[in-house]
Amino acid sequence: MRQRADLNHRKYRTDRGPLAQTDSGGDFRPQRQGGKVINDYLKWLQETLAALGYDPGPIDGIAGPKTAAAVRAFQSNMDLAVDGIVGEFTNKALLLALSERLCLPLPADQELPDQPELKNFSATEFACGCGCGLDVVAPLKVFAQALRDAFGWPLVISSGGRCPTVNRAAGGVPDSYHLTGEAFDGYFPGQMNATVMAQMADFAVGCGFGVISYPKQLFCHFQLAPRNDLRY
Ligand SMILES: [Zn+2]
Ligand SMILES: [Zn+2]
Repeated sequence: MRQRADLNHRKYRTDRGPLAQTDSGGDFRPQRQGGKVINDYLKWLQETLAALGYDPGPIDGIAGPKTAAAVRAFQSNMDLAVDGIVGEFTNKALLLALSERLCLPLPADQELPDQPELKNFSATEFACGCGCGLDVVAPLKVFAQALRDAFGWPLVISSGGRCPTVNRAAGGVPDSYHLTGEAFDGYFPGQMNATVMAQMADFAVGCGFGVISYPKQLFCHFQLAPRNDLRY
């Protein structure tokens, strides 16, 4: 299980999309890489198309004619081959369009310094609480600042990097993205409600990041790998 998660990590890290590495360029038929991953990706794809002003139909993670039509419309606007298939180039163009729209550096932008200077966060705010030095990756820190700027409220980082001991104590899943510093949890004190949480999730998806919302505990988990779901 752990190995599998690692593989997925690597995929997301290098190409930022599970389809980007399929040798034929990828399409969105679920049997390609196992239903779950692809459906997560499809959902992300639909959210992204919607955030860019296209109409992919319902955000359900299921490939349908409307999603394919939205992909074709996007490809046509981007001067890509118009085939309705999301391969490496289309995936990359989607991420670029999103980051341009939000004036954000790309999540895995190589030019980001390891320790970006952040207006509202200290250098150690995202690091593992035990002092082991495990830190959150730079793109996520930049994203945290962007999130704070967009909403205009102080953002509390309730959990960042977590070494195995800390992750176990926090009740994190054994293959948590916190273990590699590819996730953080945060909330706006006194501001968290269903609307705000939905807006936070939209913002994360719009920036190309993954999000899990916890409406009962009133925080959001943000991660490098795209996904968007609710956990009760
Ligand atoms: Zn630690
Ligand atoms: Zn988390």
